[in-house]
Amino acid sequence: MPKDFLKGASDSYDVVVIGSGLGGLTAANILARDGMKVLLLEQHYKLGGLATWFKRPGGHIFDISLHGFPHGMVKSCRRYWSKEIADSIVQLERVRFDNPMFALTTSFDRKDFTDLLTTKFGIQQTKVVQFFDAARGMNFFDDQQRTTKQLFEEFFPGREDVVRLLMEPITYANGSTLEDPAITYGIVFSNFMSKGVFVFQGGTDKLVKAMEKEMKRNGVDVRINCDVEKINVVGDKVRSVEVNGRTIETKAVVSNANLRSTIFDLVGEEKLDDSFVQNAKAVRLNNSSTQVYMAMQDGDTVPRETGDLLFCSTAERFQTDLLLSRDITSRTFSFYYPDTRPEGKGRTLIVSSTNANYSDWENLNKEQYEASKTDLVEGTLDALEKYVPNCRERIVHAEAATPITFEHYTKHVNGSSFGTKFEGLTVSRALPEQIDGLYHAGSCGIIMSGWLGTINYGVIVANDVINQISSAPTVAT
Ligand SMILES: Cc1cc2nc3c(=O)[nH]c(=O)nc-3n(C[C@H](O)[C@H](O)[C@H](O)COP(=O)(O)OP(=O)(O)OC[C@H]3O[C@@H](n4cnc5c(N)ncnc54)[C@H](O)[C@@H]3O)c2cc1C
Repeated sequence: MPKDFLKGASDSYDVVVIGSGLGGLTAANILARDGMKVLLLEQHYKLGGLATWFKRPGGHIFDISLHGFPHGMVKSCRRYWSKEIADSIVQLERVRFDNPMFALTTSFDRKDFTDLLTTKFGIQQTKVVQFFDAARGMNFFDDQQRTTKQLFEEFFPGREDVVRLLMEPITYANGSTLEDPAITYGIVFSNFMSKGVFVFQGGTDKLVKAMEKEMKRNGVDVRINCDVEKINVVGDKVRSVEVNGRTIETKAVVSNANLRSTIFDLVGEEKLDDSFVQNAKAVRLNNSSTQVYMAMQDGDTVPRETGDLLFCSTAERFQTDLLLSRDITSRTFSFYYPDTRPEGKGRTLIVSSTNANYSDWENLNKEQYEASKTDLVEGTLDALEKYVPNCRERIVHAEAATPITFEHYTKHVNGSSFGTKFEGLTVSRALPEQIDGLYHAGSCGIIMSGWLGTINYGVIVANDVINQISSAPTVAT
């Protein structure tokens, strides 16, 4: 008989959270801390969603999305998780750029960027100050017509090198492009510039295990291998979810699944207003990614000067479409030195990440797909040689992930790495106006994606749910 992953689960909860990405985990934790009876359902056998890791023989543990987040994570983790989690957040010291326009290493904060922009790039100090202030002053309610390209044209006309320095890391951090609203750039860039780039020491496995412990301590009923098939709506209210052959009643649902699958697969457009459905259909997905995971042999490592994060490119100019192309010219290398996991086996690992189009991978047959993955690994090793000499002899394991891999493990439509483009946020926020008790909390709108964005969005949505449930009239029985 197949294992019953819902064994012992109740027939009803205050809130069901669908998906255990960082947004879902955080929402579940806040709700349970507030005294709600919460069920967290994850379709995969592991918690974390895109915040995940995998192991390979030889003591190698690869992190998928632990490349860097802003300092704001410290506050969010302390407030909404635990001091133990917040205390493991450490700064990356060396963020390196190497491209035909410039080569430099930076601590990636406002002070260092101001020095670089004034001394190396020759920009006037007052212009730099004005730019930083303009980026930091942006908020969601501002004019959203101005694009990032227009923002750069206003401050640094004709300076493609400056645009490259300012934009390339943010494109990697949230998939935003020069054509997206400037706010999607301004918020994320300013978040990073406050103090630099940070990671979680101990690895994603340690973080997610600490989160699981904390959630369980707060009373969340956590279930893996539970693929939610349907959110049942009666009238204009959420009633229950269908999962693993059971119907579980609930007052509210927080879906951490992809916004599009939440609306069109789990709920169904027949339950929603036409105009809402049109807006939801118009929401564009964000891009996907490819990655190559490489493990150095036991005892071998690279000098720290190689960098923690290395944005390298052979493209003469910075163009967003080049960053997505199958013909890869730009890669971000993350170097995981032995102190990434102080309690681990002392391994050095390198992960190369590249933004990618799902459409370049979706129609390949098995042979073409495998051959393309091999090409990806080979091309990456060629590019790495410049920074890690003789890397082919020194690397004992290398494998690739593609948009199909991300889709497979997270069920994200088109393997989207950062949810949706900007317009997705308005649709996500409007969901409870369509169906009482239905919420979405997960990567969307660019600004609510990434580790910090999704954790903060989980908090916002959990508070909405708490307000709804506590203000609902009690029904006399
Ligand atoms: C290659 C890559 C590198 C990245 N690097 C960084 C980085 O360095 N810094 C950073 O800040 N961000 C990074 N990100 C982005 C970041 O990982 C994500 O924005 C964030 O983790 C998404 O969290 P989420 O809450 O939206 O949920 P997700 O992680 O998308 O998880 C959604 C969860 O819902 C589950 N689910 C879906 N459907 C169902 C269903 N029907 N029933 C049950 N469960 C379901 C999925 O299995 C999954 O666990 C990266 C992303 C990628 C792909």
